[in-house]
Amino acid sequence: MSASSTDNGPLGLLGGTFDPVHVGHLRLAEEACEALQLAGVCLIPAGTPPHRPVPLASGAERLAMVRLACAGNPRLTVEAFEVCSPDKSYMVHTLLHLREGLGPKRPLVLILGTDAFLGLPGWHRWRELLGLAHIAVANRPGSTPGARSWPDALPAELAELADGRIESDPAGLRRSPAGRIVPFEMTPLAISASLIRDQLRCGRSPRYLLPDSVLDYIRRHHLYPGA
Ligand code: ATP
Repeated sequence: MSASSTDNGPLGLLGGTFDPVHVGHLRLAEEACEALQLAGVCLIPAGTPPHRPVPLASGAERLAMVRLACAGNPRLTVEAFEVCSPDKSYMVHTLLHLREGLGPKRPLVLILGTDAFLGLPGWHRWRELLGLAHIAVANRPGSTPGARSWPDALPAELAELADGRIESDPAGLRRSPAGRIVPFEMTPLAISASLIRDQLRCGRSPRYLLPDSVLDYIRRHHLYPGA
């Protein structure tokens, strides 16, 4: 696998459709790295995502965009496992695969925006995820409840999952390989891949919402209507 194995510190994992990857994803990875003292973050583009419509860009194109976006940042690596697998992309399978390569002891930290965290009960075998990794949750504009009102304001299933597992000290992530839930604050960025696709469709420029190299790739390959 391509994830950093040279340092045994907690490794962040950021899954997503990345249709396309944008600055919100990159700041999420960078700020998680700093706030949670991670050894690095591995971005994992989904192959066929089970929870949402089929992405407009193919798996190979989304992988290429994520590789371009991460180029030059030694903290970021890219994992092609989901894109290369013929099966649907389920995070539980990906974590099991990563555990095979990294062993049972390495702390793994699944990084989610609040919207993704709130959707967790819809994920395949979601209750098993905390047996395989910690979960870190970043604020995202438009998605509530914020961590200050946890666990009371969470939907019942998540409140139950979070009960006794919320960790405020990032150092706590080093003490075990999995099982804690850590909220953290990132610079609020109201950027989404849908916003970028909409702007392209309307003939507007999404420049500076995503890396220039990714926008060039989108235009060169006419990946989205209007690009
Ligand atoms: P779309 O608009 O197509 O739904 P998206 O921008 O939400 O896409 P995804 O690839 O679905 O991007 O997101 C992957 C992960 O990144 C999710 O955990 C999501 O919560 C998080 N994320 C995406 N954008 C942001 C952002 N601006 N701030 C915080 N987290 C984000």
